[in-house]
Amino acid sequence: MPIDRAAARAGAILTIDLGALRANHQRLQQELGAVPCAAVVKADGYGLGLEQAASALWQAGARSFFVALPDEGLRLRRCLQEAQIYVLGGLFAGAEPDYVESDLIPVLNSLEEVERWSAQARSLGKSLPAALQTDSGMSRLGLPDSEVECLAAEPQRLAGIETCLIMSHLACADEPTHAQNAEQLERFRWARERLPAAPASLANSSGIFLGQVFHFDLGRPGAAHYGVNPVPGKPNPMRQVVHLQAKVLQIRSIDPGRAVGYGASFRAPRPSRIATIALGYADGFLRCLSGRSFAWYDGQRLPLAGRVSMDVVTVDISDLPEDRLRPGDLVDLLGPQQGVDDLAEQAGTIGYEILTSLGRRSHRIYRDD
Ligand SMILES: *Cc1c(COP(=O)(O)O)cnc(C)c1O
Repeated sequence: MPIDRAAARAGAILTIDLGALRANHQRLQQELGAVPCAAVVKADGYGLGLEQAASALWQAGARSFFVALPDEGLRLRRCLQEAQIYVLGGLFAGAEPDYVESDLIPVLNSLEEVERWSAQARSLGKSLPAALQTDSGMSRLGLPDSEVECLAAEPQRLAGIETCLIMSHLACADEPTHAQNAEQLERFRWARERLPAAPASLANSSGIFLGQVFHFDLGRPGAAHYGVNPVPGKPNPMRQVVHLQAKVLQIRSIDPGRAVGYGASFRAPRPSRIATIALGYADGFLRCLSGRSFAWYDGQRLPLAGRVSMDVVTVDISDLPEDRLRPGDLVDLLGPQQGVDDLAEQAGTIGYEILTSLGRRSHRIYRDD
């Protein structure tokens, strides 16, 4: 039963286990050996709360943090004064003073950004730190080979910039046998030789598990911290961090042939009991999970019946003993029996999207024991 009034007012309860988050950082650090492990906390700490996640990861030993946007960097700086904070999205034009004032390190992705950061440094009469990202094969962000060659030929373009990291990002690290992993490794080494001597970083969560040659000087995992399996197809070495429960609002018995939910997409094949649960796609429980996912109660798997609505989802509880489940009780949507990756598979997506969708309206509880 709900333990406090905020929980009593909520439909869904998202419990985030900060101890598991710290343990996951230590597990990743163990995999990296002597190479330090940074923490990627973009998108509000993958949806779990930037400040809470970052503080826990700092406690666990992380000293370098990566966000996507300068706005996220400002927020993170207010909670971690000592951390190194990198902004993956680059140097946003017009926001240069914010990077300087909040001591954010831009990940420079183009010559144009290099030029603006160098100009900023020269106008302040001091050197400014930056990471240089090279495009080793993702064709998304980073200096293309031609711009790497340009910096090699004209190193004065980096005047005033203290290069503290050379980095790139892997496209296929979750497929260890994919040929692109070795190709990107080669292209990254090629670029590194042409850029100022600095520590290097290539591996995201899955990249760490590709082996030591991918580790360089800094690991850069995000998803694995939050419980997503970095080695798909193999047992998950990470601990589950999130637990999503939702409240039973009403239970009804229906006759065979009766329809449930929008579009009448489910019709009861037998006399059925249907529980309506206070969780919908507005809570990030994706509508495409309709007819594909399950709620769990007391170790029992209960199939969704009909479409996921904005605020509620309906579940066939006919297999539970009568009166076992009552209005106000909580069922599990993410828990020990059904993890983030399971839900992602049912939805035809990845754990990353499940995590970042959750929690906008759920009542959050941060467990720390
Ligand atoms: C998101 C991101 C990461 C972290 O990736 P995970 O797969 O979540 O570990 C690392 N580097 C870059 C550039 C990213 O965008």
